Amino acid sequence: MAAKQGKAHCLVLAYPAQGHVNPILQFCKRLEFHNVKVTFVTTRSFWKQATITDDSIKSADSIALEAISDGYDEGADPDVKKSKTYSERFWQAGPPTLCELLDKLFSNGLPVDCVIYDSFLPWALDVAKRFGIFVAAFLTQPCFVNSVYFHLHQGILKLPVIKESKILLPGLPELEPSDLPSFLYLHYGMFPIFWDLLVEPFDSIEKAGCLISNTVYELEPEVVDWMRKMWPVKTIGPAVPSMFLDKRIQHDHNYGISMFQPNKDLYMNWLHHKPQASVVYVSFGSITTLSEDQIEEIAWGLGLSGNYFLWAVRESEQAKLPKNIQEIVSDKGLIVAWCDQLTVLSHEAVGCFVTHCGWNSTLEALSFGVPMIGVPNWSDQPTNLKYIVDVWKVGLRASMDEKGILKREKLKRCINEVMESERGKELKSNAVKWMNLVKSSMDEEGSSDKNITEFVAMISK
Ligand code: UDP
Repeated sequence: MAAKQGKAHCLVLAYPAQGHVNPILQFCKRLEFHNVKVTFVTTRSFWKQATITDDSIKSADSIALEAISDGYDEGADPDVKKSKTYSERFWQAGPPTLCELLDKLFSNGLPVDCVIYDSFLPWALDVAKRFGIFVAAFLTQPCFVNSVYFHLHQGILKLPVIKESKILLPGLPELEPSDLPSFLYLHYGMFPIFWDLLVEPFDSIEKAGCLISNTVYELEPEVVDWMRKMWPVKTIGPAVPSMFLDKRIQHDHNYGISMFQPNKDLYMNWLHHKPQASVVYVSFGSITTLSEDQIEEIAWGLGLSGNYFLWAVRESEQAKLPKNIQEIVSDKGLIVAWCDQLTVLSHEAVGCFVTHCGWNSTLEALSFGVPMIGVPNWSDQPTNLKYIVDVWKVGLRASMDEKGILKREKLKRCINEVMESERGKELKSNAVKWMNLVKSSMDEEGSSDKNITEFVAMISK
């Protein structure tokens, strides 16, 4: 069915979290660049918290913004969002409000040709099918992580995972249990919601006409090739603003929608006055919470390393900073509540990234050639770290002690190794090699660019 004005019209639905909205909205911008009309949808509760930071999104002829309900329209506590209660309520409120939205668009003369749903929201597939619309799933995690969940879904990987076992899956390196997504081993039994968001989607995924994955083919070709034997997978990453990659979308400088507001002048002025590759950037993403003990150890590790450091500690975490934090920070460090991570990571003063290994952060560091020190916390982060350290060889693992705490001495040693040693130079040179591969995937005729063009052709018929 052709949309009004001859353009194909996609409704794109994102799970309400920064790490989902960022890549999915970026993909929307790529679709729009290819002359597709886009309606971007997330939940009312997310819109309540978020600010639009990209002026082009506000313009009337740009991406249309819409909302559905997750059952928590006034906002959900971060802890609630990790609970089964959240998915249960969302699974009830989501489908009827998505139906209402589709009805509204059709009756306003804006028929939808394609629904792209975040794989975390598998019920959207059935809703779209009821309207007879072509459906594609958007996978926000790498294919090697999806492969783990698929094998769990198929019963090939069984829970609980035995401590000494080795996990062998097609196209993946041999994994230790601790390399698995945390829900399968480290946090086994603690977050039942993971099944609804990460495993249940495989009940119906084969009904999707396309699986769009925010990854780069060259980063994990074996797994992608294996997946393509079953499903029409299109790798389209890194879903990072165009002006950091191919520069073909002139206004695309930032992700565009943010739950937190940075004080950009403060840290950019600070960064501009630092020598090349002299700063350690530290961030644990938009969700991770750390214990007071862990935050204190990190603070001391950074202070003792003797390097400059820029540390993003979300406002909700700042009360956990040690009382003598100013003494530790001295004239070497700067703590901010949030930053525009893309601008920071792409700044020449940054020499190393201490990260929780969230997939967006990992792809961003790979895109800018920044070596990493991995401090995984939960979800897919341990598996991403396995690839960072052993497959791409662009980072170090900062191991925790028996209580699960990264100690100050260990962090200090890792930082010194990345910033000052021969090993650090090797990591940097590998990071630059991967940066070139990752960036070229988005250039005209690069692997991701070709897949995006093919997808647009598929929905524009
Ligand atoms: N981010 C940011 N500023 C910060 C911390 C994070 O802009 O101070 C962005 C980062 O660029 C990434 C996203 O938030 O795009 C976090 O996603 P990721 O998958 O790395 O982690 P999550 O927050 O989902 O755990």
